[in-house]
Amino acid sequence: MELAHLLPHELQRALAEGWPLLVPAGCVEYHGPHLPLGVDTLIVEELVRQVAGRADCVVAPAFAYGPTGYAVTGPDEGTLDVSTERFGRHVKDVLASFWDIGFRWIIVCVHHQQMDGPEALSIRQAAAEVTFERTRAQRGDAWWGKAPLASGDRVFERIQVWPSVLPEAAVQGVQMADHAGFFETALMLGAHPELVAMERLGPGAPWFTDAPGSRAREAGREAGQRMWQAMVDAWLGKLTSLRPRRPTPSEVTITGLF
Ligand SMILES: [Zn+2]
Repeated sequence: MELAHLLPHELQRALAEGWPLLVPAGCVEYHGPHLPLGVDTLIVEELVRQVAGRADCVVAPAFAYGPTGYAVTGPDEGTLDVSTERFGRHVKDVLASFWDIGFRWIIVCVHHQQMDGPEALSIRQAAAEVTFERTRAQRGDAWWGKAPLASGDRVFERIQVWPSVLPEAAVQGVQMADHAGFFETALMLGAHPELVAMERLGPGAPWFTDAPGSRAREAGREAGQRMWQAMVDAWLGKLTSLRPRRPTPSEVTITGLF
């Protein structure tokens, strides 16, 4: 379900049942002559939409204007850039509000510039700050130092940042290290073929659309659909890790002893 579509009683049910909140994060950036400017946002939005179609989740509106550093083009080609610092501060405010609303799990999905790019790093910093500040506000000073956290206390997992392509999908051949090449073109053909103009790929297309091992013109819809399946399955698998853990055999034994 989409956060923006929820009625108050639907929100309360999602909170009570611990549905994860999935937050796509993207940008506006030139992606060659054949792909739209919003590729990195469209991919994360499509991923969380498909995941939410198969598991109980709430999908938040995207962080759509991430920093690009004008690494691919300047603004003349439609790329948009923002301050990484101010972006991170905005993200922190939003994540803190999601925490205060009461979402048990807040999962941000990043595709743009992978997990060590400025966008993902600023989101991860914001998430860590919210986790420490909110927990101190709720539990007081020395909340970590005074005693071990209770078994099953997963406060450090409450806000997480996941890549669009998890390792389980990567081993099936899906790559994130691609800009408007084979992989992003195939993903777009798989999800939004109406937004792709393959006939625009010609001799003047930028190098990154025709790099060895990632040639956009070799991309097809079937390859894209296979990649989507691998990416969505990997996300669904990782989401199961958020369910309450059963006690391990040793924990059961200890409980029985005492
Ligand atoms: Zn991209």
